[in-house]
Amino acid sequence: MHRFNDPKEFQEQALADRARGKTTALVPTMGFLHEGHASLIRWAAANADAVYVSVFVNPTQFGPGEDLEAYPRDPGRDAALAESCGATALFMPAPGDIYAPDHCTWVEVPPLARHLCGASRPVHFRGVATVVSILLHLALPHVAVFGQKDWQQLALLRRMARDLHLPCRIEGRPIVREADGLALSSRNVYLGPAERAQAPGLHAGLLHAAALARDGQRDAPTLKAAIAAYYAEHVPAGEVDYIEIVDPENVQPVAALEGPALAAVAVRLGRARLIDNELLRP
Ligand code: AMP
Repeated sequence: MHRFNDPKEFQEQALADRARGKTTALVPTMGFLHEGHASLIRWAAANADAVYVSVFVNPTQFGPGEDLEAYPRDPGRDAALAESCGATALFMPAPGDIYAPDHCTWVEVPPLARHLCGASRPVHFRGVATVVSILLHLALPHVAVFGQKDWQQLALLRRMARDLHLPCRIEGRPIVREADGLALSSRNVYLGPAERAQAPGLHAGLLHAAALARDGQRDAPTLKAAIAAYYAEHVPAGEVDYIEIVDPENVQPVAALEGPALAAVAVRLGRARLIDNELLRP
């Protein structure tokens, strides 16, 4: 596995791989890798000749007062895990390698950034769309791989790639969970024992709504209220940021289920802000 900090050197490797006729895949991450990231890297290795993993805690997607400084990091373990999953190159730039001091070019996808996480994190998706477009311009991959855990991010990046005619497929992969249902996240290390014990309730509440939808409940406010009631009982330490039901493609809230819809939640549990989602199929 080649290692790069310098964007130009990383791009030269990517250009050389393409010139040799290789198919290439990019897996962007913020590091502190877990089995969710590993599943993306393994998928990339099974579907491309060259697999680039980026590890970059992107400062522009954190708002004031968020956990940029505290975000967990372990570059040595990340490198070992990426290599063991089939990465052929690891790109670990410093913030100053990506952003010039007078950086002023931004990519925004406003309609898809308005709801869910965009409502409480106003600069988040501008930072995500900008850094992913920078990474795509450096790596020039045939495919970029993202997790459905960040469903809104995936929908927004798909729209960005379409609107900008990027020559890159955006691949979304299923959520990897702990045995008790908690979605893997680098931020799960913030959970204390009592919070960790309640955290699986996040997904259980979504499954409860999915069962109601399967049994015929199509009214979004009723389904949202059912999730809220479930959390009040099973995740009492949680502070709900949002419980929303949206169109899976454009992530706009829906009033009723007319086809598959996405139930998406964000809940603060101690120092952690956890997100999760589940497709509801009426
Ligand atoms: P992050 O390092 O949290 O920015 O995540 C990097 C990529 O890994 C994103 O595309 C995430 O959606 C994806 N990811 C994070 N957690 C999971 C998970 N539990 N299952 C699948 N993909 C995940």
